[in-house]
Amino acid sequence: MKKNAAFIFSNKFLNYHFHEKHPFNQKRLQLTKELLEQSNALTSEDLVLPREASDKEIALFHDEDYIEAVKRASFGQLSDDEKSEFGLGTEDTPIFEGMHEASALLVGGSLTAVDEVLNRRVNHSLNLGGGLHHGFKRKASGFCIYNDGAIAIRYIRKNYNLRVLYVDTDAHHGDGVQSAFYDDPDVCTFSIHETGRYLFPGTGNVDERGIKKGFGYTFNLPIDAFTQDESFLEVYEAAIRKIAKFFKPDIIVTQNGADAHTYDPLTHLCTSMKIYERIPEISHELAHEYCGGRWIALGGGGYDIWRVVPRAWAQIWNVMKMDTINTGPLPRTWIEKWQRESTVSIPNHWHDTNIEAFPYIPRKLEISEKNSKLLNQLLKYTFHVQ
Ligand SMILES: [Zn+2]
Ligand SMILES: [Zn+2]
Repeated sequence: MKKNAAFIFSNKFLNYHFHEKHPFNQKRLQLTKELLEQSNALTSEDLVLPREASDKEIALFHDEDYIEAVKRASFGQLSDDEKSEFGLGTEDTPIFEGMHEASALLVGGSLTAVDEVLNRRVNHSLNLGGGLHHGFKRKASGFCIYNDGAIAIRYIRKNYNLRVLYVDTDAHHGDGVQSAFYDDPDVCTFSIHETGRYLFPGTGNVDERGIKKGFGYTFNLPIDAFTQDESFLEVYEAAIRKIAKFFKPDIIVTQNGADAHTYDPLTHLCTSMKIYERIPEISHELAHEYCGGRWIALGGGGYDIWRVVPRAWAQIWNVMKMDTINTGPLPRTWIEKWQRESTVSIPNHWHDTNIEAFPYIPRKLEISEKNSKLLNQLLKYTFHVQ
């Protein structure tokens, strides 16, 4: 019988590691995998090892001299000019040994995820090692070296000629992926994120809509800082349904950054686990409605690796494999193991059961109204195209 889903994973994903104090921490992959295993939702039969992407595959999006620079960076061979030209060796994206190999494996993970689905072995596949949406054609940015999402979409276009809907729910704008397909009418990108007024990378305004033939196939919803669950879900769900109906994709690629939660230290959105339960359910529904089930989900941001990311990411897998989120208490063994290392108290339940302890947002109504206005602006665009 055909399996529902594939979980792409290798311990080598953890080699994508800048340094001990850097917020990007791939230990969250291990935490997520063990949470699923101890909930009996993930077995060895679900696991698929990633391959390393070849230079030629990485060059589907990146310039060859950028790839060469990433390789040389590991050996301390970049001049200061090259470092600034290629965005390497910055505070956000420092150089580390083996960075080319580690990055190429994350890309290979996303290509493996594509092959699993498009060779019809599974309907859905998950590469939580990927989702590095800030990588540009010849520049590293925002913790991202190679943009696996953009490469995977180019790979789908080249080898399978399918029309791709890319949906980015990371709290930051999916700028690198948007840039890759800005003039391409066969790839529709939609990013919901905290407004770039105060947050990296600053782009992702609602009026960024694509250029040339790709005009009208880029969508952005830059919601207000301190947005909470209800408003997030209201505008997100309305927008994604309308965009899917407008574009009618053959396949959906989602970037599932988990940094919009109240606990996340890098952003100002104030959501709870509720959005991370609903987001995969919606992706799943749309994949079956429009794409014969074809859905590839990637990881992304997420900097509260103890309280937020494992639960959020595990729910994607739960939906992929079992068509439902998990609820109730988390496995004791998992909590006890990781509580020894965690500096914060690890939650006991899949849901956030302490929402009343979340910060009170006095501007709640104003924020919701602003977000609704943005939604209306975006919805107008889906009418005017075609
Ligand atoms: Zn992010
Ligand atoms: Zn399904």
